[in-house]
Amino acid sequence: MSHTIEKCNAFALRITNYSNTSQIVHFFSNEFGHINVIAKGSRSAKSKYQGMLQPLSNYEIVIYKKDSTLSLLKEISIIEDNFDLFNNLEKTAVAQGAAELYLQLMFEENDYAKFYRLLDQYFSYLQKVDKNFIIIFWRFLLRVTTLLGFSLKFDKCVFCQTTTPEKIYGILFKQNGLVCIDCVRKKKMTESFKCSRETIKILLSLKNISDKINDIKMSQLVVKEINTIFKTYLSYHLNRRIHLKSLEIL
Ligand SMILES: [Zn+2]
Repeated sequence: MSHTIEKCNAFALRITNYSNTSQIVHFFSNEFGHINVIAKGSRSAKSKYQGMLQPLSNYEIVIYKKDSTLSLLKEISIIEDNFDLFNNLEKTAVAQGAAELYLQLMFEENDYAKFYRLLDQYFSYLQKVDKNFIIIFWRFLLRVTTLLGFSLKFDKCVFCQTTTPEKIYGILFKQNGLVCIDCVRKKKMTESFKCSRETIKILLSLKNISDKINDIKMSQLVVKEINTIFKTYLSYHLNRRIHLKSLEIL
């Protein structure tokens, strides 16, 4: 069996126990994208990895990389443990939501480094705000859609360019943006997603929201509606059902 020794930076997206003492880690790396690695004996008291492998932490890893089967973890050191992502339930949920999403995405080789950087920036940003972590998650999702090539824009009606919140009707998934009441009627758009007033207001301000993120108040209904919009949008463009179970506790 052929293998190469490789070194890369990687986030642990999912860790599962394997046999009595080992673990299988699904990493997302800057060099190879998704990699599944077995950490032999990592749960035994004598292991040099003991307690080191934690979900959402960022590592430098050295692996015996195998293409047809699990790679083997050879060395590991922590770049950033990201433990602060676990000190608030909402923050944890949206951080895990990002890992959950990455696990469902296929990435182009050219994009590995970009998606690695995006996750890194997202996790750091989450540690800088005190609340409304979900808004940071939505902005992260917007950047994901941009990198995947179907950038979703919430700034104006895609047809007549109106930005008046009262005139916006909802979202057109196919056109990747908002549509107003007049255009929906005129163009007989049927594949549209009608949004509540409050949702429209939040979506229109999503881009310029950073400085006042701690002051925003949203109802649970709006949070659920916007989560559904993103899930449906991603599923529509990726041609399969995208799950974000981590968010269900919100
Ligand atoms: Zn319009």
